[in-house]
Amino acid sequence: MSTVKLSLSDAYDLALECLLHNGCNRENAEAVAGRMIQAEADRCYSHGLFRMPWYVSGVKSGRVNGHASPTVERLAPGVLRMDGDGGYAPLGHRVGQAPLMACAREQGIAALAYVNMFHIAALWPETEALAEEGFCAFAFTGSYPYVAPAGGKSPLFGTNPMGFAWPRKDRPPLVFDQASAAMARGEIQIAARDGHSVPETAGIGPDGETTTDPNVVLKGAQLGFGGYKGASLAMMIELLAGPLIGEFLSIESQQDDGGLKGPPKGGELILALDPARFGAPDEYLERGERLFHAVLDQEGTRLPGDRRHASRAETRHSGIELPARLHREIQDLMA
Ligand code: NDP
Repeated sequence: MSTVKLSLSDAYDLALECLLHNGCNRENAEAVAGRMIQAEADRCYSHGLFRMPWYVSGVKSGRVNGHASPTVERLAPGVLRMDGDGGYAPLGHRVGQAPLMACAREQGIAALAYVNMFHIAALWPETEALAEEGFCAFAFTGSYPYVAPAGGKSPLFGTNPMGFAWPRKDRPPLVFDQASAAMARGEIQIAARDGHSVPETAGIGPDGETTTDPNVVLKGAQLGFGGYKGASLAMMIELLAGPLIGEFLSIESQQDDGGLKGPPKGGELILALDPARFGAPDEYLERGERLFHAVLDQEGTRLPGDRRHASRAETRHSGIELPARLHREIQDLMA
């Protein structure tokens, strides 16, 4: 595959220019471009520049507000709600972070319900940012119906990811962020684009049979990880990021899209816990480290997030390699 080498700052400028050219104001464009390049830097390609044509189509269709101005209100002592004003999620995250942290410091625990936003992408950026400030954090979001319920054949749940972050002393936080599907949708789309196969566990065709062809999975249904256990987590996340906060289920989000196949509109629930307020303020960091050391003492292990941090350290100097086809596509969006 032919590629184009870009420094992180050139990649950011490319993303920013493309978004500004296609209907986003500076505040929204900076937030989205920043988040895309964060994903590229950590080599989380399914949430990087790969998404640009889709993001542009969302704004051009008039569904996504490129001039969104998110607002936060406090519904209860520990409950905040942010209205994303119909824009992409990254600006909402920027605006919501400080009130969430202030509320969690005050209460010991706080929840932030994000509503009326489009495409809540990867969850590690917002959970990691909270843990960098000392919080333990959880995040949940839905998407479009891609995953069949256990035993079923038709898509019903989103690939519904969940993120978790734990603060560490003098080190980046421990973060895991994973789909409840066996494979993220974006990874299957990238496999289809690049002509690669996917594991048999990834999904089924429209006939309900397992397949390694990503194009057949995209026409059929994805599967939860670990069979019914992943499907139950997907259902829990549907409830937390949907009915609990007055937002769409994945099936409702797809109906709302009306067949445009644009970015999904929906919500996200974030929980922030201040570990200093849970009865062991002098111990939790050391005891967390004890667990991580015990994990790493076993041969063959690593901690979640280690791959991302190693990628981040490399791309800071090396920059990124963008598929030439995608680079051209992004440039064409500015023609
Ligand atoms: P992966 O399966 O690639 O990774 C899931 C987590 O497991 C990561 O934190 C990863 O860390 C960690 N991990 C992987 N291998 C190991 C290992 N051997 N030992 C310990 N930890 C490990 O992620 P997914 O494919 O499930 O999801 C990819 C992204 O897509 C996520 O950011 C997710 O939020 C996002 N997504 C978004 C959706 C949406 O609708 N908004 C839907 C579905 C997914 P590391 O990163 O360091 O490899």
